[in-house]
Amino acid sequence: MAWQRSSVRARLAPLLALVRELCQPPGGSANRVGIHRAFGSGQPRELLCPATAGSVDDDTLIGRLLDNKSLLSDHLADVSRAGLPDLAAITDGLRAEREQGITIDVADRFFSSGRGNRRQAAREPDAMTATAAAPSFDLQSHSDRSDGALTPAQVVKAAHAAGVELLALSDHDTVGGVQEALDSAASIGIRILPAVEVSAVDGSREDLHVLGYGIDHHDAELLETLERFRADREMRAQKMALALHELGFEFDDGLLAARARSGRSVGRPHLARAASEDPRNAPRLAEEGLHDMTAFLQAYLLPGKPGYRERTIPTVQQAIDAIHAAGGQAVWAHPFWDLADPAEVLSTIERFTGLGLDGVEAFYVTHDREQTLLVADACERLDLLSTGSSDFHGPEHRLFSRFRAFSLYGREPRLGPLRPGVGP
Ligand SMILES: [Zn+2]
Repeated sequence: MAWQRSSVRARLAPLLALVRELCQPPGGSANRVGIHRAFGSGQPRELLCPATAGSVDDDTLIGRLLDNKSLLSDHLADVSRAGLPDLAAITDGLRAEREQGITIDVADRFFSSGRGNRRQAAREPDAMTATAAAPSFDLQSHSDRSDGALTPAQVVKAAHAAGVELLALSDHDTVGGVQEALDSAASIGIRILPAVEVSAVDGSREDLHVLGYGIDHHDAELLETLERFRADREMRAQKMALALHELGFEFDDGLLAARARSGRSVGRPHLARAASEDPRNAPRLAEEGLHDMTAFLQAYLLPGKPGYRERTIPTVQQAIDAIHAAGGQAVWAHPFWDLADPAEVLSTIERFTGLGLDGVEAFYVTHDREQTLLVADACERLDLLSTGSSDFHGPEHRLFSRFRAFSLYGREPRLGPLRPGVGP
């Protein structure tokens, strides 16, 4: 994640400067107003106040800013791909709030402003001036079988209501919701493309996503393979839990085991939370200056840190092979979500093509025009499919809440056999 962190650090620099500036007591007088964050259902917690502003370094501040109830890596990725909102536009509002003595939820303002920017971007003239002009296909969505908020049937219903005609339900590492999606689609006239989104390892990158489209979701070998991939993920979490215990940290493994038993994945944020919130660790955490789960995660669970253990399977090659074995097409999802450098995206597409990749998700909710055209051109040149999605995770999701919210930027997607009624 180091590559992400350094890029995030650079992008966050203006925001950190703003936060620090807002904490300067106006007119030199003491000001008790601090900068807070108040994500989700969590209580507001202090991010920075005049008393501590001088003693908090940038990394700590970034950690506090990005600390959230869900995955740390998600937030780093959000910032990486969404870019910063127009800071000047929100500075005045934040200043006014400070003058009035109001607690400033800077992180909340920051991210909601970013959302606004993305909506605006999606309304560029040749993008989509009306919903009718938006694509009628949407080839990624998530249900509660992985990290989505709705049941498969509810996802299908919501997609249909939004005007989607061809939908892929692409839960992470499972096809558990596909049959329900197919069943509920039959009565309402929307086409479902059976799909799965496999998290794969590629060298130092642990989490590149390969979409499998048109797979046989009853295929016994596929079910067994996905089970094995999920088991590796769980095994790795157990290894990290063991490592943390060996390092002397106390926490209740039962809670994590219960989470895993109920079908939810256990990842580094969950381990970090368990360890950082267990009162038995409090004296040591205070001594080491680890005041929240983000600080703990950064100190113990990132690559190179003592509690970290690698993921090993599946590699991108194994993911592609598993998808092919189940009769599907393998498509690299949202390349600019995971990579920032256009040259690296292109070389990676070429390398994956050598492994048997069938297509790339060129059209994606956070891809801008330049990124979209770059990938679309590469797909044409290499004779790959090019697909698109809004990556719907639920109506309340911070980033992925609207079907069809991606632009073709005037280009024709290459859906090939993924279009209903075409090909095998
Ligand atoms: Zn994905």
